[in-house]
Amino acid sequence: MAEARFSCRCGALTGRLVGIDPREGTHLVCHCADCARADRAFGGAGDAAQGVALWQTTPDRVVIETGAAHLRLTRLSPRGLNRWVAGCCGTPMFNTLKGPGMPFVGVLVARLDSAAALGPVIAHGFLDTPGGKSRHKGGLTVGARFVKRALRARMSGAWRATPFFDPESGAPVAEPEILPRDAGRS
Ligand SMILES: [Zn+2]
Ligand SMILES: [Zn+2]
Repeated sequence: MAEARFSCRCGALTGRLVGIDPREGTHLVCHCADCARADRAFGGAGDAAQGVALWQTTPDRVVIETGAAHLRLTRLSPRGLNRWVAGCCGTPMFNTLKGPGMPFVGVLVARLDSAAALGPVIAHGFLDTPGGKSRHKGGLTVGARFVKRALRARMSGAWRATPFFDPESGAPVAEPEILPRDAGRS
């Protein structure tokens, strides 16, 4: 299966995304307000209409080679998604759920050296319609693949191989940090 390399902007935190398979992972664009806000909080243009491209897979396929100590865990709110940033240069890199038991990671495609192996974008999340409501395109596929991947990682034990958590205690490798309320607000 294909691989791609990832890196933060300064190049201190690097590694490989392995086991890329477009039939199993999910290449999607998230248009939610939080993803745009998180991007702005770390110096990006953060435009929800444009969205943030993500590759969803299981964390055992994220292999950090250098700079793992730079991983910084941020959340936009106490109950928000885990947003992992390279603390060396403030680059958003990965999103995960709260603990290792739900094996899920969204890798920011902008951090990859190539998106060619991911295949086409198959879903758009949180599209704002003219009526002001959100809807999902391809949401069923996204959900079904997440369940399938998570179950398989649970059964094989692959869920334990995560760079983001201690599998024994379930504790994240960095202390969660809630960003200020006005961080990334436009
Ligand atoms: Zn860096
Ligand atoms: Zn989002």
